[in-house]
Amino acid sequence: MSEPSRGRAERVELRNKVNSEFGSERAAAYPRESGFSARPLHSGVHAVESPFASAEPLGKRRLHASSASHATNPRSDGNARTSEFYPAHVLHPRVIHGQTHENVKKPLRVMKFGGTSVGDASCMQRVVEIVRAATRESDVVVVVSAMSGVTNKLVEAGNQADAGNRESVAAIFEELRQRHETAANVLISSHEKRQTIVQTIQARVQEGARLCEDAIQRREVSAQVRDAIAGLGERLSAPLVAAALAERGVLCEAIEATELVVTDSRHGAAEPFMDLTRERCEARLRPLLLQGLVAVVTGFIGATVEGVPTTLGRNSSDFSGTIMGAALDADEVILWTDVDGILTADPRLVPGASSILEMSYRDASDLADLGAKVLHPKTMHALMLQGIPLAIRNTFAPERPGTKITSDGSSSGAGVRAVASSNDAALITVRAAKVSDTPDVLRRALATIAGVPVELRLAPQYSTAQDEISLVVPSAAAATTLHALRKEFTSDLACGIIRALALESDVALVTVIGEKLFGAGGLVGRVLHALGCEDITVLARSQGTSRSSFTFVVAQRDMKAALVAAHLQLQLTASAASGRSL
Ligand code: ADP
Ligand code: ASP
Ligand code: MG
Repeated sequence: MSEPSRGRAERVELRNKVNSEFGSERAAAYPRESGFSARPLHSGVHAVESPFASAEPLGKRRLHASSASHATNPRSDGNARTSEFYPAHVLHPRVIHGQTHENVKKPLRVMKFGGTSVGDASCMQRVVEIVRAATRESDVVVVVSAMSGVTNKLVEAGNQADAGNRESVAAIFEELRQRHETAANVLISSHEKRQTIVQTIQARVQEGARLCEDAIQRREVSAQVRDAIAGLGERLSAPLVAAALAERGVLCEAIEATELVVTDSRHGAAEPFMDLTRERCEARLRPLLLQGLVAVVTGFIGATVEGVPTTLGRNSSDFSGTIMGAALDADEVILWTDVDGILTADPRLVPGASSILEMSYRDASDLADLGAKVLHPKTMHALMLQGIPLAIRNTFAPERPGTKITSDGSSSGAGVRAVASSNDAALITVRAAKVSDTPDVLRRALATIAGVPVELRLAPQYSTAQDEISLVVPSAAAATTLHALRKEFTSDLACGIIRALALESDVALVTVIGEKLFGAGGLVGRVLHALGCEDITVLARSQGTSRSSFTFVVAQRDMKAALVAAHLQLQLTASAASGRSL
């Protein structure tokens, strides 16, 4: 880590040079390649609130924020005030040893905005205000998702191309063009700038239509083409958000992550090569940050070393945000979404769910792995090594604290933190005639499953007192897995060594999550009791490999009731904020 700190010292020096040279007039008129430069919106509304519009040297401005005992927000009138958007803990910058206040660096925040946060023009305007406020105290890299529902439409366009349905493809792209143009019309006041963005929108839409037409003619939509089509949503939203920021005086540039995130070629679930990604981000983004620009980067996408576009998986813009954070050694990554951070359960399913103020990487990672949509399962991977804090905040209530995720989480983090659920699963049960045969049956079942191959959704559990093995697989893989197991156990079934091989489709997993969970005595019994009171049958159960989760398998139709019952029984509403142990 000696390399980065040397880089940091140089960065501080350069940054002060650039910013002290940046007079307000120059900032307001500074043109960017992308065409989105800061400029007055209405007469009199200049880029004056941007810190880059101030002639005051950065080191001095930094002093306002870092010397205050509470969260402050330096303003052009010289009065510091409590930040609208940032609680005190968020504002304190990481101080570099041996540096004076004069050249303490500005913290770098990577802020990712999800689909609902950029869902229409008025949402994008909220995003702009959040980013503008952040630029007063930090360098900012913005990562954006596609507008809500757009990626689904693009995936659908790929499917329609596969089926040869030209009309459906055309209708989808027309709808997308209209939706983005409507937003541009609201967001951009100048005719000339609006034309630029409308041309960009049309070019992207035509690119999608052309990719689909080629695929129809070839009668094949390859995984590579599917990624190129699916990634268009972010390539449409990023220039729009950049244009909206520029409209409000924020110097920025829209950048496609195909330039930054280098991945392997697993289309649809590509993995980043962090070293190459770091190099690209340093080369491409650092100079922009040093000039005081906000980079607006597309989430979800990357490209192979050869430049072939890839996607990181559905819902993976969270991961894009943390990849950027890790690559730039950011001080914080914030995922802005449509709820108040991580809650004790999905609020759409459990009305009484409440926000969790602090969490450990481990708990958050478990929660994401076990189905909480609020975080993509890979989100924490990129941050954990570097110990970069992650915050989850609400775009629609930016004054609320949301959730902060760090390596140790809250000091009182023992016990149950949350319940999560996931569905689209099937349960396969293998029942041996004799209990003593179970270990061998399990070994053979696992080898068969590995050969399919299929990923188990739950660690299979059995006890020496049990003659049954429960295997939970994704619904889509249920038939193939059952077929493979029948083949493996044909003779055992015939001679009665195996009594039954049964499939239960449409099951759901309801999981209780918390570090040091098993300090929470009687937990399993209490949840079983609560589910029993609701007449919910538990089809199987399993302790997570990390001992920080416990899962109950129920019929999919019982999932919501099971979540509500477990949440109530574990008193999560009351315990959440304090993280008290149960
Ligand atoms: P974004 O588009 O901002 O990435 P997502 O829709 O992917 O947002 O994730 C946010 C959604 O996750 C919330 O609206 C909520 O319904 C769902 N969710 C599921 N579990 C949780 C949880 N434990 N805490 C908060 N939200 C959750
Ligand atoms: N737009 C992508 C999706 O819908 C990625 C994301 O939003 O996280 O899957
Ligand atoms: Mg998401």
